[in-house]
Amino acid sequence: MGGRVVRPRVHGVALPETSPLALAQSLIRCPSVTPEEGGALSLLADVIAKAGFAVERPIFSESGTPDIQNLYARIGTGGPVLLFAGHTDVVPPGEADAWSHGPFSGEVADGMLYGRGAVDMKGGIACMLAATLRFLEARGPGFGGSIAFLITGDEEGPALNGTVKLLDWARERGERFDHCLLGEPTNPERLGDMIKIGRRGSLTGRITVHGRQGHVAYPHRADNPIPGLLRLASTLIAAPLDGGTAHFDASNLEFTTIDVGNPATNVIPATARAVFNVRFNDDWTAATLGAEIRRRLEEAAGNAIRFSLDLQPSNSPAFLTRPDAFVDLVADAIQAETGHRPALSTTGGTSDARFIKDACPVIEFGLVGQTMHEVDERVAVEDLDRLTAIYGRVLDAYFPA
Ligand SMILES: [Zn+2]
Repeated sequence: MGGRVVRPRVHGVALPETSPLALAQSLIRCPSVTPEEGGALSLLADVIAKAGFAVERPIFSESGTPDIQNLYARIGTGGPVLLFAGHTDVVPPGEADAWSHGPFSGEVADGMLYGRGAVDMKGGIACMLAATLRFLEARGPGFGGSIAFLITGDEEGPALNGTVKLLDWARERGERFDHCLLGEPTNPERLGDMIKIGRRGSLTGRITVHGRQGHVAYPHRADNPIPGLLRLASTLIAAPLDGGTAHFDASNLEFTTIDVGNPATNVIPATARAVFNVRFNDDWTAATLGAEIRRRLEEAAGNAIRFSLDLQPSNSPAFLTRPDAFVDLVADAIQAETGHRPALSTTGGTSDARFIKDACPVIEFGLVGQTMHEVDERVAVEDLDRLTAIYGRVLDAYFPA
């Protein structure tokens, strides 16, 4: 391990609030819309420091983006090191009047806790924290390993000054992790449905077809790029990119826009553009996928269509955490608490797991994601208690007495 001296001081110290509901309410009341810290990380730092964690609050900068506050905390000096990861920033609430309870009120009604971040993912962080505090209360600091928290305020934004830099910062200080549990909302319908053991990659490309502008009544003197663009677009959606892999669905290409931007009805335009995004599986890297798309376009274009293809640099590779003893340990904890054996899935959008996977094996399990990013984002109070119990079982199994 690195040379840091971390002094647990749990025994004899009054532990802070360990109710996940109270913690989640306090976090929701911090208006931490990216890039604002909103008091959320300070609150977290206070609670976790009282439990004996050594807490650091690095701030990262990048020209052209706002400075971002982050949090790293650790208790214990030896291995194994279990890392809890997540984010306290939230997406904007939109029209506050549209909410049945204020987006930063943290109100409970009919057994549901309302507020921006209730499921994505202040609720998840509250459960990780409550489970950890209870675990330390029961076991004391000599539990035979280390627990770390890596929490960013830049997940819902550009993600430049968050987890990526925080992981680099931790590595430079000699911090090493054995496994990571990321608390994003992974369950589609009910708690216990799904663990994410990987994520698809994402690649965005722009096709421009070049023609020659002219009068619609004299098409022989022009070169309309629109038919060529339609042919290239049809080529890309005609044949599947692959048939899926052991743990991934087939890669999927979607066109997101086709633009000519021509206000005139009597002019043949000079260029036509289309943008597509591919969510790809572990058959591909962004480079091999980009090359295959270019090959298919060139084959369809022949000498007849002049086009260019711009592929955006991708920081979202496909990755898989192979099912192993740690995945089983978490699945066992979920099954014991909910009665469901969770599906092991790689569906959905990208998350910070794509960065953490370079530091240690990472899997994701959190609350039910149905209302994330929506008006009236909410979580069942009962789910907060059950997720806390699940994380508690994970800790008990990971650090056997
Ligand atoms: Zn999230």
